[in-house]
Amino acid sequence: MFVFDHPSFDDHEGVHVFTDPAAKLKAIISVHSTTRGPSSGGCRLWSYESEDAAIDDVLRLSRAMSYKNAMANLELGGGKTVILKPEGEFDREALFTAFGKAVQTLGGKYIVAEDVGVSPADMEIIKTQTPYVAGLNSGEAASGDPSPITAKGVFLGLRAAVKHRLGKDSVRGLSVAVQGIGHVGYALCRHLHEAGAKLIVTDINQGTLRKAKAEFGAVVVGLDEIYKQDVDIFAPCALGRAINPDSLLQLKASIVAGAANNQLSTPEMGAALHRKNILFAPDYVINAGGIINIASEVSGTYDLDWVMAKLDELEVTTREVFDISARENRPTNEVADVMARERLGRT
Ligand code: NAD
Repeated sequence: MFVFDHPSFDDHEGVHVFTDPAAKLKAIISVHSTTRGPSSGGCRLWSYESEDAAIDDVLRLSRAMSYKNAMANLELGGGKTVILKPEGEFDREALFTAFGKAVQTLGGKYIVAEDVGVSPADMEIIKTQTPYVAGLNSGEAASGDPSPITAKGVFLGLRAAVKHRLGKDSVRGLSVAVQGIGHVGYALCRHLHEAGAKLIVTDINQGTLRKAKAEFGAVVVGLDEIYKQDVDIFAPCALGRAINPDSLLQLKASIVAGAANNQLSTPEMGAALHRKNILFAPDYVINAGGIINIASEVSGTYDLDWVMAKLDELEVTTREVFDISARENRPTNEVADVMARERLGRT
């Protein structure tokens, strides 16, 4: 099948494939839109079950980055990378050096940062080959790991959902089921715990589960049990497609608000949540904290006050999406998509 015929293709400006056998590099950089500025988005290192699954992921993720950057009012377009995780042992330095060369060939159309499976240390390796990299630990404007700022934004978006759906100003006493307590999920748990919420968590990493139990008094449940928990809020913070026909049947929460990208397996899932009166905080609206942090670095001077002001703006935008959805009785994902596409000039 041509990429042009792929169900997730949305007139992406460019889909670029790179290989370097010596470094075991197989990467796809997808540039969805540069209308608002150079495309920017994370690099994901992951084992995919097929090439098609990787292409689907990068097409969907890069479009979501365009929407995210537009909704956060950033002068950035949307792009994303997936690197197919090499089987067995591999040389991380060689892999990210080769990938840095690939980014450089795009001449600034794409600025790379971290995503799942990738760290600021990897960004430092990429930096040896190209200036089009952010989320660095060193350098004048370095913004480091974006996850804490992403978590803060998700917390603000989740709180806006609580206000809208439950009429409460705080999460105190509410219960939250968090799926995936990695970089963002764990930091979100800390915000929720400090604000007085009760936590139920799951992950494949037993070490971090033990830590969350000790630090936050979190209740640990199995991977498949997280959806059916009798909680107020379900927070997907692992990978995409957490909301699918199966999980939808199990959900008892009245709010879905989390960090994961592409939480809905299809847009129809947003309509299904709406029909079940479950308020969905669109992922790309509330998880924009990380890219806001990166945008500050890309501007040349990292400014934490600006970042915090943008997080407040993100909360306002989230409320606006909820208000329009309630007024017009339309699913929140549809409202957000229309707003984002208008800002991209793709109506
Ligand atoms: P991470 O890799 O640090 O954390 C993901 C966690 O999910 C890991 O602990 C992993 O063990 C766990 N996990 C994987 N599969 C799981 C499953 N089936 N059930 C339960 N847990 C599972 O990644 P992260 O940086 O915390 O990102 C989490 C999500 O948020 C991703 O979807 C990412 O794209 C999105 N996101 C991250 C940022 C950021 O700043 N890091 C920004 C925006 C969006």
